[in-house]
Amino acid sequence: MTTGHAAKAHDLIAALHTDLLIDGAWVEAESGRRLDVVNPATEQSIASIADGGEKDALRAIEAAARAQRDWGRTPPRERSEILRRAYDLVMARQEDLALIMTTEMGKPLREARGEVAYAAEFLRWFSEEAVRIGGDATMSGDGGTRIICTREPVGPCVLVTPWNFPLAMGARKIGPAIAAGCTMVFKPSELTPLSSFALAEILTEAGLPAGVLNVVCTSDPGSVVGPWMSSGLARKLTFTGSTAVGVKLLEQAAEHVMRTSMELGGNAPFIVFDDADLDDAVAGAMVAKMRNMGEACTAANRIFVQRGVAEEFSTRLAERMGALVVGDGTEDGVEVGPLVGTPALDKVEELVADAISRGARVVVGGERPDRPGYFYPPTVLADVSPASALTSQEIFGPVAPVITFDTEEEVVQMANDTAWGLVGYLYTRDVERGFRVSEAVEVGMMGLNTGLVSNPAAPFGGVKASGLGREGGRVGIEEFLEIKYLAVPRRTVG
Ligand code: NAP
Ligand code: MG
Repeated sequence: MTTGHAAKAHDLIAALHTDLLIDGAWVEAESGRRLDVVNPATEQSIASIADGGEKDALRAIEAAARAQRDWGRTPPRERSEILRRAYDLVMARQEDLALIMTTEMGKPLREARGEVAYAAEFLRWFSEEAVRIGGDATMSGDGGTRIICTREPVGPCVLVTPWNFPLAMGARKIGPAIAAGCTMVFKPSELTPLSSFALAEILTEAGLPAGVLNVVCTSDPGSVVGPWMSSGLARKLTFTGSTAVGVKLLEQAAEHVMRTSMELGGNAPFIVFDDADLDDAVAGAMVAKMRNMGEACTAANRIFVQRGVAEEFSTRLAERMGALVVGDGTEDGVEVGPLVGTPALDKVEELVADAISRGARVVVGGERPDRPGYFYPPTVLADVSPASALTSQEIFGPVAPVITFDTEEEVVQMANDTAWGLVGYLYTRDVERGFRVSEAVEVGMMGLNTGLVSNPAAPFGGVKASGLGREGGRVGIEEFLEIKYLAVPRRTVG
């Protein structure tokens, strides 16, 4: 890390609250335990945070439950303005928040700035939605009943987020929860809690009342999330993370029949037909693969290229991948940061070794550098066998496997041959084929001649094992609202 940035990051982190936020106060964990947050570029500890447990969790959910009644009755405009002020504060502090994020998570500063803006936009978007919560009134078929439907907040929500987008994943849940009038207990990942602390401070500064947002970090997620789920006080779970953990939480949600929104894993196909604009397709693959060092649920996990252009595509992609500058994300010019930790690095190495053992050819990369930090080089594998382990698991790293196909039918079959269905990407200049194949791929989101679909104004989410519900867009707030139907008998005058 450059010394200027290191000193600045140190000061910013030293000024953050690093305890638990419960009922408007930052407090130590009941056990007094702390846990370290590590910079993945240096493997050095950068902060010590309160390590919450069951008792802290119960205090937090009780605070959220107490705050729900008044918060749910707050005028929508008030909630809207809290979010709008928070948006302004996040953007005013974009640079500082980006530096905190890069230091705890590893992504290059340029990407961290982008994520801060992306996260802020969820706050602004939902500040605009807060005052547009609709309802409807209709008449029963026989004309005898007025059917009046209004929307009410679901109630206290459990929020659980992963480490890969430390600010945006929280903002995408907190924004609509505030807009809808729900209180929250929030458990960010233990690996990247600092961005969430900073966001919680900003929301408090923006006027969020005590108890509406409670934040508990922990080294033992089950000991915090478990009590929230079984408390009977939470009415909804909104989770972003792996399918394996998501399935466990769905089972726990069943006990009290909680509403759920689940943003789970992906296994995105990135399909390139031989009629595609290859420059565009390579540029799109760079974004779909390398955003966040490949540590994204939306990452292109299987790159299917039609035989006639496969060699050319792999060569061009390898040129771009090989030219990327790898290093500490706070250094100028760095385009690829470290992975989040040793398990992630080991997994990527194993998946690459497996693909090679099944006939894949390394076009670029493939060798882990000998240096501190969890670095893996941008890697392109050609002639990858569809039987390789990386076609059925999230790689979550900067590895682009190119699989060759011949026909449209074949590639649709291969694209759908997975338990997941989050997102897909497709490059073709044939408009009819673009629609036809997009409709045939089983996903919640599709990028047609683009490598990026994430947008606060769009409904984000998947089908199959990729989850339930959508975040963002016009429908995002619905996940936090219940419909209440009022029946009123209807008689006519005279
Ligand atoms: P993860 O292990 O499932 O963790 C996600 C969250 O769940 C973290 O806060 C984690 O805490 C917590 N957690 C872990 N075990 C738990 C348990 N037994 N009970 C309650 N909570 C528990 O996922 P990850 O490895 O951090 O994140 C990567 C995954 O997230 C990938 O599968 C990726 O595709 C997915 N993801 C999906 C989306 C989407 O929108 N669809 C977006 C981003 C990421 P700790 O981290 O503190 O252990
Ligand atoms: Mg963990």
